[in-house]
Amino acid sequence: SQALQRAESLIATIPDFPEPGILFRDISPLLANADALRASVDALIEPFAGQFDVVAGIEARGFLLAGAVAIAAGVGMAPIRKAGKLPRPAASVDYALEYGRASIEMSDDLTPGTRVLLVDDILATGGTLRAGQQLLAELDLKLAGTAVLMELVELDGQAACGPVHSVFQV
Ligand code: 5GP
Repeated sequence: SQALQRAESLIATIPDFPEPGILFRDISPLLANADALRASVDALIEPFAGQFDVVAGIEARGFLLAGAVAIAAGVGMAPIRKAGKLPRPAASVDYALEYGRASIEMSDDLTPGTRVLLVDDILATGGTLRAGQQLLAELDLKLAGTAVLMELVELDGQAACGPVHSVFQV
């Protein structure tokens, strides 16, 4: 659709951020545009209509999408946080970053078997979403699907955590 094409054009490409040699995709201009945000959220959840009870977003940019998805789909929202932020973490998954390691955590707010749609802004190597999927599994939650706004295709994140639904590919 025209709104989706406009949304894609609003994702900015920033060279050398956060480090030299990295081409950073910045979704802020898309988020700032009402029609682009609406069309993107609709496209993000479209394949999973009626298939999820709650949406989980990964800190921090995943939160921005998950809140919007929750309202659009009429479901609740569960945050997946960086380690040390939650007062009552129920599960924790440690994973490799490009440099070093990171850990994500989730609270015990969802009944086992709840169908969860996992969302983030960008699929790069897939390490982050894979860790999110493992976290859901540790809490006996059912992965209803994994969805991102944009997939960086050459990094082949699908191999790590696929299948992932992506609204835009670059
Ligand atoms: P991965 O674990 O797939 O290598 O990296 C994905 C995570 O890093 C996501 O949480 C995503 O927010 C962030 N990320 C990686 N590359 C980019 C990028 O170019 N732009 C944005 N906005 N986030 C990125």
